[in-house]
Amino acid sequence: MALTIDRMEIDDAGANPKKLAEAIVKQLPQGVRAIPVREIASAIDIYEIREAVLDGLEGGLIVPEDKSHGAILVHSDRHETRKRYTIAHEIGHYVNPTHLSSSPNGFMCSRKDMNVDSAKTGDQHAKMELEANQFAADLLMPGAMVNAFLSRKLGADLEHIFALADWFEVSKEAAARRYVVHLDVPAAIVFSFKGIVRYIKTSGSFPRLSVWNDVAIPGDCLSATSRAEVGRVTDTVETPGHLWLERSAGLSLGEQTVAQQNGYRMTLLTVESTESEEEEWEAPRFRS
Ligand SMILES: [Zn+2]
Repeated sequence: MALTIDRMEIDDAGANPKKLAEAIVKQLPQGVRAIPVREIASAIDIYEIREAVLDGLEGGLIVPEDKSHGAILVHSDRHETRKRYTIAHEIGHYVNPTHLSSSPNGFMCSRKDMNVDSAKTGDQHAKMELEANQFAADLLMPGAMVNAFLSRKLGADLEHIFALADWFEVSKEAAARRYVVHLDVPAAIVFSFKGIVRYIKTSGSFPRLSVWNDVAIPGDCLSATSRAEVGRVTDTVETPGHLWLERSAGLSLGEQTVAQQNGYRMTLLTVESTESEEEEWEAPRFRS
């Protein structure tokens, strides 16, 4: 049966990417697992999702000014998880009333656009790409569904990210970015390529790192020395805090890593305070 989505309810959600995604997700049938992005597109008058080898682009949205209907372009030479992300990103441009295309062809989105996760004030292009990405994450991995999925999983573990990616049919990287902000413990995920940090995503309370984008991962850490085969998640080991952190006094740092295809690697860092015992120190009692 074809999916029915009331576009009025989406219009009522305004321009906030999270609210827009929620307005769609709440109209899906109960019990959906991977979000059916193609069916959603079709239900909101996207008349075609055309797959083609795109030169320098990941995707696009061809749309008239009134956005009454539209067509989505997707790079065909990609994994299904990436295609799903691209479709969700383009739907994000389509449903957002503040997103106006800069060209008569509509929105043309590069791989870089798909990774925008911050925007400087006044940079309208970056703001739209950021919002389309926020929308895509909220549509493909709705907060409530992610919480329900993770409620059965204790602690922080890269295996949870892989399970999340499988369940929601998203890339491991998209799942990892979602996972880290959902954790209730301080955590950071370092995405690297051939030993060089690509970028790092942290949960709000994670202490300041001593590594940043485009520098080598610390030479003596597990992520540099692990010989575990591609796809095999290591155990979490306690790693010297100074390797990764600016200030590590009183903190115990856990490191877990996995090598991925073609030189990519994901590393999960977690911290715990080692000072809790001292805080429980009690004043000696004196006999009167
Ligand atoms: Zn875009």
